[in-house]
Amino acid sequence: MKYTFGPVNSRRLGLSLGIDLLAEKTCSYNCIYCEIGVSPVTTCDRKEYTPTAEIIAEIDETIKNQSASKPIDIFTITGNGEPTLHSGLGKIIHHIKERTDKPVAVLTNGSLFYRADVRKDLFEADIVIPSLDAARESSFRKINRPAACNRLSEIIDGLVLFSREFSGKIWLEILIVKGINNTPEDITALQQAVARIKPDMVQLNTVARPPLEKYAMPVSQEELKRIAQELPGKVEIIADFSRKKKEKNRIANESEILHILQRRPCTASDICEALNLDTDSTTNALLHLEKSEKVIQTEHQGKKYYSAP
Ligand code: SF4
Repeated sequence: MKYTFGPVNSRRLGLSLGIDLLAEKTCSYNCIYCEIGVSPVTTCDRKEYTPTAEIIAEIDETIKNQSASKPIDIFTITGNGEPTLHSGLGKIIHHIKERTDKPVAVLTNGSLFYRADVRKDLFEADIVIPSLDAARESSFRKINRPAACNRLSEIIDGLVLFSREFSGKIWLEILIVKGINNTPEDITALQQAVARIKPDMVQLNTVARPPLEKYAMPVSQEELKRIAQELPGKVEIIADFSRKKKEKNRIANESEILHILQRRPCTASDICEALNLDTDSTTNALLHLEKSEKVIQTEHQGKKYYSAP
């Protein structure tokens, strides 16, 4: 499968079928914490980066072949970069809504919400999860390293407009990087932006997986709790995935593991959790994949991460 992956257990969304609209990393940002690598170019150009018809055909095939033991709870449009850059986004969401009664979520950096066509394309989604890491221009440039076409004031105005127009849920994700967007001035600016956007919920996060830049360091759980208290409305700190205890009983399958690692680096326990796999067979599969040089191992914050080069 080229555009779909899973279903995987998503910490936020349940058993989710991922839909990746971009074959190669294409983004309007080049975030210092990005876990999928450097953006070769940053762009605001909306176009059909991959054929919409091919994506729709693959979604149909996945729906037809979905296993009764692993039914899809939610369709999650994400991307090897920024999915709203794909001009077929609205058509793809509309197609899923016509074919199934399952919700559709979209993970986006929110940078193109100033465009009416992008906001309209998202109207049929059920949950939209945009990011807003900084509400001060200098911090925005440091953390997200946006394309020249992005202006922070336009982005925040776009999020405000979308929040007024959209009838589904908006979960605004804010990722805090130590020493970059956690100063008192940053938190005050974020408070004001969140108060204007009025999302259904703020999801507060920090750097967990190996970031693009080594200097992108996480803040402590205590600091996230303090920031959460300072933001208006409902705020959730995204729980540490690896701490949840669940039964894992499926035997690991190497190609399934590779499929996930081609998208982002994971620890062995991330993989077990996402795919509901047994720990021992996952460890063995990773050892074998490492020996055959299909995956590499790196260490970050004392944890071993695997990725597919
Ligand atoms: S917006 Fe997302 S995909 Fe784009 S650079 Fe930032 S983290 Fe990576």
